[in-house]
Amino acid sequence: MDLSYILNHLGEDRERYFGAVAPPIVQSSIFAFPTVDAMRAGFRDEFGRHVYTRGNNPTVEILRRKVAALEGAEDCLMFGSGAAAMSAGVIACVQGGDHVVCVAKPYSWTRAVLKDLLGRFGVTTTFVDGTDTANFEAALTERTRLIVLESPNSMTFEQQDLAAVAALAKPRGIRTLVDNSYATPLNQSPLALGIDLVAHSATKYLNGHSDVVAGALCGSEALLREVFRGPYMTLGAILAPHDAWLMIRGLRTLPIRLQRIARTTCEVLAFLEAHPRVRRVYSPHASANPQLALTESQLRGASGLLTVELDVADVAAVERFCDGLARFLMTVSWGGYESLAFPVCAVFPKDAPLHPVAGVPLSLVRLSIGLEEPVVLIDDLRDALARL
Ligand SMILES: *Cc1c(COP(=O)(O)O)cnc(C)c1O
Repeated sequence: MDLSYILNHLGEDRERYFGAVAPPIVQSSIFAFPTVDAMRAGFRDEFGRHVYTRGNNPTVEILRRKVAALEGAEDCLMFGSGAAAMSAGVIACVQGGDHVVCVAKPYSWTRAVLKDLLGRFGVTTTFVDGTDTANFEAALTERTRLIVLESPNSMTFEQQDLAAVAALAKPRGIRTLVDNSYATPLNQSPLALGIDLVAHSATKYLNGHSDVVAGALCGSEALLREVFRGPYMTLGAILAPHDAWLMIRGLRTLPIRLQRIARTTCEVLAFLEAHPRVRRVYSPHASANPQLALTESQLRGASGLLTVELDVADVAAVERFCDGLARFLMTVSWGGYESLAFPVCAVFPKDAPLHPVAGVPLSLVRLSIGLEEPVVLIDDLRDALARL
């Protein structure tokens, strides 16, 4: 199935809605049945049929089909956020007393669901440096049921060898779940490497327009039916039909957006790496990345996230740099059409030291590259760096 078929046609049945080219938003919470027998059949397969929109909805289903096809998955469930997709994936795989191994620096709310939420229910988690596969093996216990990965992560971009971790987990009956938000299905295919479940913050590149919060979880139909019966239906963190419709629209331009973003990102990366006031640039594609070989073998292309470590003596200089950016909007999140800057120091109190004893230096500023002309972004960065 070619990419444009998936994005332009798959899951869409235009004959059923007047030949309309854009699909309808089926804004209905419930679906009626002509007979008791038909209703009974609906209840037997809420995952695949239309009964109630907390389970399945025709507009959301179009999106499920497209995202599943992009990931090379049998099926996909859409959620109201990426955090919900990750949480549902985790919750479906563990019970009280079980043990999870997770990468050391996952997305903060992934850490929170494992440590804070599931910790209250007797699930324990060991966080390990995932750049060395041996660390996963060393952390396994008899109760390990799940390995949670994020490759690369979204701040310093450490990667895990997905095929090697899957090969470690599978024979032991341990499931694997990876957050693939950074790479998108276009640049990395974890299921093909043996991973069981792939989650996305679809808020980021998949939607790409900074107007929807959404999540996706992809995997085998059998595993997703488990997720559906469990956390999907019980927690009810669903994607509304209107948001699904916006996402279908955003998704149609994913390849062309990513192509443009990758090109610009490489130019910005080269500019920053050569700038005397930049100490280091973090990116899977940065020349200083010790995992460049894994980048080559596991990622098909660049995404638009990179993190700059500024050569500064205090947090005030970081603030001057960020306040001086005119074209990068300063905020959280990433993956949209517009370029963004996220200063790590903004989450710390004003008088925090530049180098905390443990944790990331406050001289880091994460950039998300959007669709602007490269020269516009580079000029903006040059001007802001001149204020250091
Ligand atoms: C944003 C993000 C999430 C959470 O997604 P939401 O859609 O904000 O809930 C999960 N993982 C990564 C890597 C993210 O960047």
